[in-house]
Amino acid sequence: MRLILLGPPGAGKGTQAAFVCRKLVIPQISTGEMLRSAIAAGTPLGRQVQRVMDAGELVADDTIVDLVKQRIRADDCKNGFLFDGFPRTIPQAEALGEANIAIDHVLEIRVPDDIVVMRISGRRVHEASGRIYHLRFDPPRVQDTDDQTGDALIQRDDDQEDTVRERLRVYRQQTQPLVGFYRRLAAAGEIGFSAIDGAATVVEIEREISRVLRLPGDPNASGTR
Ligand code: ADP
Ligand code: ADP
Repeated sequence: MRLILLGPPGAGKGTQAAFVCRKLVIPQISTGEMLRSAIAAGTPLGRQVQRVMDAGELVADDTIVDLVKQRIRADDCKNGFLFDGFPRTIPQAEALGEANIAIDHVLEIRVPDDIVVMRISGRRVHEASGRIYHLRFDPPRVQDTDDQTGDALIQRDDDQEDTVRERLRVYRQQTQPLVGFYRRLAAAGEIGFSAIDGAATVVEIEREISRVLRLPGDPNASGTR
């Protein structure tokens, strides 16, 4: 199964990606996480992208497409993968087609802007693993502390409100056109496409995704971590 999760920053892509990947036993390919790891490790790629990411802009298409193509050559992608935060532009999506990387299903998570801002302002993450929490909606067991490692949680540099507004603008302008792009492919019978109401609770969204993808197991037995 090859899946794409599409939606604005803060829609809950990472949260739902972790759930789907656990169910299907496929890797979660989050380009944002890959870039943040490169920055943390101080690699040339990390140095190249840091300023752009801090400003809430998109990293160059060629850079992202190279990163993804290399990642999916790995053994763990043999039975499928889930793209979280990729593609984010029409050229990125076209590059997939040109490389004959067929996609089975696109899930669009739809969330209004006011909810996005509320979700992102309360988002806290475990830097090393990318585990996601929310101060109100999904708090850790011990305040500001990762449940599994006990490490301190952080707020991402690009989760400040001004940058969030810019990321939303970039989403509407550069990424949202992908909805029409994939709807057309779906109408032509080439892929599956489902729009999901992302304003619901985490568990309700898990149930809806389980239904449209016919995921195995009992969605009630889930949870984000
Ligand atoms: P969010 O989870 O809030 O949607 P991500 O972690 O996916 O954010 O992305 C964080 C930042 O990384 C983006 O604002 C952008 O600068 C960069 N980035 C991630 N994926 C891509 C991509 N596919 N194309 C261009 N830039 C990307
Ligand atoms: P994205 O990857 O799309 O940027 P995340 O999965 O990181 O989004 O979610 C953004 C924030 O909102 C996180 O703090 C997460 O805990 C929280 N969150 C995710 N889904 C929901 C939901 N359905 N209801 C309330 N909060 C949510």
